[in-house]
Amino acid sequence: MQNKPVHHPKKRARRQKDALPRLLILLLAAILAFGAGYYFGQKNGAAQRRRASGILIVNEQNPLSADYVPDELVNLYEMRHSFRLSRADIYLTYSAYLAAQEMFAAAEAENVNGFTITSGYRSYQRQAEVYAESKPGYAQKPGCSEHQTGLCFDVTAENTGGFENTPQYAWLRKNAHKYGFIQRYPADKASVTGISYEPWHYRFVGVDAATEIYKNNLTLEEYLK
Ligand SMILES: [Zn+2]
Repeated sequence: MQNKPVHHPKKRARRQKDALPRLLILLLAAILAFGAGYYFGQKNGAAQRRRASGILIVNEQNPLSADYVPDELVNLYEMRHSFRLSRADIYLTYSAYLAAQEMFAAAEAENVNGFTITSGYRSYQRQAEVYAESKPGYAQKPGCSEHQTGLCFDVTAENTGGFENTPQYAWLRKNAHKYGFIQRYPADKASVTGISYEPWHYRFVGVDAATEIYKNNLTLEEYLK
């Protein structure tokens, strides 16, 4: 009984010494686990957000069905428009039209005029005709054309020796993302998109996605991966 008060504190001290490294290891493991969880959580979170964003992707691997027709198609000719039209029967979805209208009005306000939209929505059946009429490799198979989404257009400008050499093109490259559009088929990304450079083809994906894609020099395929 007499020894106990002396003995106990010593024992406790030794136990504390052993416990300290174990505690540090546990703490380190917890930090690592939390860090990894956070990192992968962020990554998965971003991927999930993108998948949940509902952004439609159309390519050889992701074709649309023959009966896919987007909601709320509008005839651009019948809408107020700050751009020209090569025909009176070019359609886009209402949201893509609104964004395009805002974008071309902004270009006009900066004295960049003369955009002409030459193509918008194309039905599966129409794409089948285009495909049948084209030389091999020049048109997408029916279902594989992004034009079936109603979310993209082809544009040109007057007096061009190639659209990519015009001030209109330069303006679009710099500003399209602010209105939710991306250049869908960049020059150096054919191996990713499966489609060679199309300076005239712009796709509506919304401002957030377009800005991230533009700033990181991505394609839609890379963004949604
Ligand atoms: Zn196109």
